[in-house]
Amino acid sequence: MGDLIRNFDWSKSVLGSPEKWSQSLLTTVNIILRSKFPMFLWWGKELIQFYNDAYRPSLGNNGKHPAALGQQAVMCWQEIWPTIQPLIDQVMAGGDSTWSEDQLIPIYRNGRMEDVYWTFSYSGVDDESGEIGGVLVICTETTKKVNAYHDVEHTKEELEFAIEAAELGTWDLNPQTNRFIGNQRLKSWFGLSVGEEIDLSNATAVIAEPDRQRVTNAIIEAMKYKSGGHYDIDYVIQPLNNPTPRHVRAKGKALFNTNQQATRFSGILQDITEQKKDEVRKNDFIAMVSHELKTPLTSLKAYVQVLMRKTNIKSDEFSAATLIKLDTQVNKMAGLINGFLDVSRLDSGKIHLDKKVFLINDLILEVIENFSIPLVINPLQFDPGPDLKVMADWEKIGQVIDNLISNAIKYTVGAMPVVVSCHREDDKAVIRVADQGLGIKKSDLPHLFERFYRVQDEHGRSISGFGIGLYLCAELIHFHNGEIYVESELGKGSVFSFSLPLNTDRPIS
Ligand code: ADP
Repeated sequence: MGDLIRNFDWSKSVLGSPEKWSQSLLTTVNIILRSKFPMFLWWGKELIQFYNDAYRPSLGNNGKHPAALGQQAVMCWQEIWPTIQPLIDQVMAGGDSTWSEDQLIPIYRNGRMEDVYWTFSYSGVDDESGEIGGVLVICTETTKKVNAYHDVEHTKEELEFAIEAAELGTWDLNPQTNRFIGNQRLKSWFGLSVGEEIDLSNATAVIAEPDRQRVTNAIIEAMKYKSGGHYDIDYVIQPLNNPTPRHVRAKGKALFNTNQQATRFSGILQDITEQKKDEVRKNDFIAMVSHELKTPLTSLKAYVQVLMRKTNIKSDEFSAATLIKLDTQVNKMAGLINGFLDVSRLDSGKIHLDKKVFLINDLILEVIENFSIPLVINPLQFDPGPDLKVMADWEKIGQVIDNLISNAIKYTVGAMPVVVSCHREDDKAVIRVADQGLGIKKSDLPHLFERFYRVQDEHGRSISGFGIGLYLCAELIHFHNGEIYVESELGKGSVFSFSLPLNTDRPIS
């Protein structure tokens, strides 16, 4: 801009050539040119313009620059003249300097009208006679800042709209202070006051007694770096001022600093009361249907057995063989129905464990001996380890082993053996059922123990089942404080194993 000013033909301007300029104008132009801050000067009654390099970008490309240099303000700023003229007049008349922050002053640049925001001040510059000789504009363009702010506001509005539409509660906990903020909906669900921040204990106190400890543990767990910060839990809230319990699902995540300390923990809450009611209705329905189906099936089984006893195996081989098949099918159906009954018992919390101390190998042997499916082709091998005592429900653990062996046979094509084994790991007994069958895709593995989950492939579709066997197994093992796992490779086979705490024989004090 220094070059442009020096090379400008000022003789044609009302200011005349620079030798005739007042000291005051020269000094001010000098200050402007040296400054890295965007500056602009209007000089004389005609408001002849000067500006510095820092101001240049604000004039855009293919716009007012370089014509604006030496031009009269009114010619240059026609589009905003009504806005700025009163401010300029005020300053030229010796009035107060002006201050405007993030003001929208759309200007013509880059070949079009653009919305441009400015923070600026107009101040008077004295000439030699002590009168106001011009107006100095120190300004900065804040378009980017203002647009970013508008974007944030817009995003926030969108987010609030979505949260509102989905009827979600939101929360944000500060792990350092244990205080949190929640949206209005969350506070009303918890029966909390409208105040800004709430102590976490005020919220946990409202959680139904049977769920409270579980939720507290889940929060503590999520705050541990090792957990990855995940938090996903269902529970019931029952504030004093609202006697109807509300079932909610909380989902959130903790964030950690470089010292692996949780710095933030936030998420959402969805009201799943209706969903839960639906589930209860569905469970009741399943229980009722299973129960109703069981009654005629029990009679059918009894009749088959009577017939079996009355049939002369030697003289009527066909009937005898058919009855055996019939009996097998009836047993199979009874097994399926019992599975459903177990699921509904489990979901309504009606499973009861009848624990006693026994050797796990004894149970495995019994299951293998009375195996529910006739072992047609697959050899079943048992590889007993040391004698391990557990304290568990004999029937239910038997059901788990039976189920795992049935699956191993069900999902093995051909005569590959199924191997059952048992060994000790720390203070646990680990029971393994290994097959060399179809195997399972990696992506299915995390879901196998979910209720009603079945692998969707051509083999799976042709093999009957409801996807409740493994769910029941997992629940029964968890009830025993054990764990269940699967390792599998597609086309190679699967190993299902579960652990049970060993009975340490220590007298209970
Ligand atoms: P179901 O066998 O009635 O479908 P399960 O809960 O017992 O239900 O098993 C769930 C799914 O897991 C099955 O549909 C099957 O695809 C898969 N699966 C279970 N055990 C095995 C196994 N040993 N080998 C291969 N796939 C298995």
